[in-house]
Amino acid sequence: MIYKRSSALFAEAQKVIPGGVNSPVRAFKAVGGDPIFVKEAKGAYLYDEDGNRLIDYINSWGPMILGHAHPRVVEAVIDKAKKGTSFGMPTEIETQIAELAVAMVPNVDKIRFVNSGTEACMSAVRLARGYTGKDKIIKFAGCYHGHSDSFLIQAGSGAVTFGSPNSPGVTKGTAQDTLLARYNDLDHVEHIITSNKGEIACIIIEPVAGNMGCIPPVKGFLEGLRALCSANDILLIFDEVMTGFRLAKGGAQELLGIDADIITFGKVIGGGLPVGAFAAREEIMNYLAPLGPVYQAGTLSGNPLAMAAGLAMLTELNSNSEIFKSLADKTEYLHKGIAKELKAHKIIHTINRLGSMISVHFTEDAILDFESAAQGNNETFKKFFHGMLDNGIYIAPSAFETWFITDALTYKDLDETIEAVGKVAKTL
Ligand code: PMP
Repeated sequence: MIYKRSSALFAEAQKVIPGGVNSPVRAFKAVGGDPIFVKEAKGAYLYDEDGNRLIDYINSWGPMILGHAHPRVVEAVIDKAKKGTSFGMPTEIETQIAELAVAMVPNVDKIRFVNSGTEACMSAVRLARGYTGKDKIIKFAGCYHGHSDSFLIQAGSGAVTFGSPNSPGVTKGTAQDTLLARYNDLDHVEHIITSNKGEIACIIIEPVAGNMGCIPPVKGFLEGLRALCSANDILLIFDEVMTGFRLAKGGAQELLGIDADIITFGKVIGGGLPVGAFAAREEIMNYLAPLGPVYQAGTLSGNPLAMAAGLAMLTELNSNSEIFKSLADKTEYLHKGIAKELKAHKIIHTINRLGSMISVHFTEDAILDFESAAQGNNETFKKFFHGMLDNGIYIAPSAFETWFITDALTYKDLDETIEAVGKVAKTL
């Protein structure tokens, strides 16, 4: 495929935008080469600036469950835009989407809308700290909760229980309140809690990790976290920015049967517009201003265009009882097809999958946490990524990302993808 115009646009962008992108992973740093500039998208396909058609497995990193430019979502946004794009005042549609979201998600009475997943997670942690009167939080290595200071903490020798910042600009003071645990390792979490008795406000986790590839929780892990939280007066925050309204109507809580105390959302809940949200039981949410002492605000929060897109999206998902099963079936079909091709060409691999989330890792070991995800052969991944791209298939430009399956994908698209895997596997 030819990417001449994309490369020219990237060169221009780099003059005025740091690295030419407004979010780092878009820059293809992990895989090399110039990023592709999108012109438009419809259903399961992206059309780039050079006129190439690509089958899209990223879907804006999750939200396009119904496919790109879904007519109901687009119409809702156009209708609203004609009536004004922002007021900074209450509107009826905010209550309508809140009512629907609260009805779909277990364990929540109230929800507040923000503008991104980052804001949702940042606000949820502040609320947990305010509510419990404690400062420390536990997060898991390899889980991403946005780019707010408390979350930019990495594991490493000496930093297993006391985090050290992995971005300049995050202060030591902030870093030391974030304790790092290993995903799927309950004993490690218990050890951290015991060594910080009475100091931990919350545990924040992606109930199905999606930011180190797709890593489902092992049996008993989330149940164990729930029990540890309840026994130690710690709030359990499920970051459902990826899993919310994707794995089931009620997200991972519903699919896995675990109750969290605060749930964060993003992406999906805005139908592709910039939206995030966090929700909890009434007594926790009432701690927020203007009712309670924990401050949290936003000029564009509850923006009418974003609410219209989100309401259209959630209404579609809520009225289609088959969609989550159909997505999971397509993902299973893709899994089996990819595995068959990679096996036929003797390519060492492991595929992780849950619902409509899937990732391919070039290692034969089980991928259970950040360390095991990091064992994947990145050189093979780079070749795989570029090979798939040359065959018109767009997967995330990093081995640490999940592929997201959309309802717009047909079995013909899946077959085209599997065939491409076969062709690329020959070259690996
Ligand atoms: N939490 C999770 C689980 C995410 O995947 C992301 C984004 N990929 C975020 C939070 C942050 O969301 P945003 O990029 O909208 O700030």
